[in-house]
Amino acid sequence: MSWKPNSKSLEFASPEEIADYQLPALRRQLDYLAAHSPFYRSLFEQHGIDVARITTLVDLARLPVTTKTDLQRRNWDFLCVPRSQVAEYCSTSGTLGLPVTICLTRADLDRLYYNEFLSFACADGRPDDVYQLMLTLDRQFMAGVAYYGGILRSGASAIRLGPGNIKSQLDTILQLRPTVLVGVPSFISTLVGYAREVGIDLNSTSVQRIICIGESIRREGFEPNALAEKITGAWNVQLYSTYASTEKQTAFTECGQGRGGHHQPELLLFEILDEQDQVLPAGRFGELTITTLGVEGMPLLRYKTGDICAYYDEPCACGRTTRRLSPIVGRKQQLIKYKGTTVYPQAIFNALNTQPDVAAYVVEAFTSDMGTDELKISLALHQQSDAVVGSIRQALQASLRVLPTLQVLPLAQVLAMQNSENKRKPSSFIDQRRIPPPA
Ligand SMILES: [Zn+2]
Repeated sequence: MSWKPNSKSLEFASPEEIADYQLPALRRQLDYLAAHSPFYRSLFEQHGIDVARITTLVDLARLPVTTKTDLQRRNWDFLCVPRSQVAEYCSTSGTLGLPVTICLTRADLDRLYYNEFLSFACADGRPDDVYQLMLTLDRQFMAGVAYYGGILRSGASAIRLGPGNIKSQLDTILQLRPTVLVGVPSFISTLVGYAREVGIDLNSTSVQRIICIGESIRREGFEPNALAEKITGAWNVQLYSTYASTEKQTAFTECGQGRGGHHQPELLLFEILDEQDQVLPAGRFGELTITTLGVEGMPLLRYKTGDICAYYDEPCACGRTTRRLSPIVGRKQQLIKYKGTTVYPQAIFNALNTQPDVAAYVVEAFTSDMGTDELKISLALHQQSDAVVGSIRQALQASLRVLPTLQVLPLAQVLAMQNSENKRKPSSFIDQRRIPPPA
């Protein structure tokens, strides 16, 4: 496969054509792992696996899964090429345990740009678009490199503004007239409030579309969630969700129909697994588990991402025939056990996003002296009164059944927290829990 913009993508192919591509690609990847990956060679030996006996796509389910702990403990055993062939060293954010290094060859970078080129095209991108990138391009952040490469391949232009700095984001929108923003939706929502306060009418700006990264903008049935409504209620823009992670080296991006992130079948295989690692059918929620195709540096086989979602396989109204991923309802490692209940940060975000007076927030999880999970929410408000705080408490209590500690802070302080610790994009969740060492 050559990862060129004019390569024939499989987005509009029939299921048979997709399988005809994927099976030989899987076979090639398995032979490659058996020959070049110290980790997988020992795994295959340990389980008595002969990869030549994997002759259908369904056979994939007979192979063992790979976990994040495997990747953390034996990171360099996943590298399949000599160091001299590595073009780029990326890393996971390391907010959840030990960071992992993912090495990409030149061909892997081409694959990454191909993925984003198709992703931006899927999100109605055009060669005359101007993209404002509200995230970092350094700090080993793979997504930054991927977006930039995809934008240049599409013929569009990029403004590499970086994360945070709300005034500069708005000034640049006014001066350089981007047509598309790529950023974290809760930060966009804060930008909407900020523009209102300084008297700028966002509807008179050049921005038409926003590619939303890092946080969900839809409910499970694809309806816009409160965060999306907060943005589009004030700003006549179209929102597109994109979802990716460093280990996958692949993004799933929505088309204009907004019915889930489209799968690019030439880049990876995915399965949704239940708690017992059994494969679930379309429409059932479980853990996204991926097998990369065509990766040279650090290919992964049945890697459990920790992300909980479902997939749908009816053809989309955009004409694409590929599977679509639901919003991510939770990330397993972010699960918080708080006062006898379990909660994902996303559920807390959803509750806060229903509150019109919330300008920005940060949810912090930490470990108490007793070794239990604790939660603290820092809020910036458009207007502060007992009634406003009471309504926020009620919304949290109703959706979580317990009430975390709340503190109200000035907007600048909450924004500084979102961008603390050398963050590569603003984040509303800070996980300071003590991580048990890998077993
Ligand atoms: Zn579509």
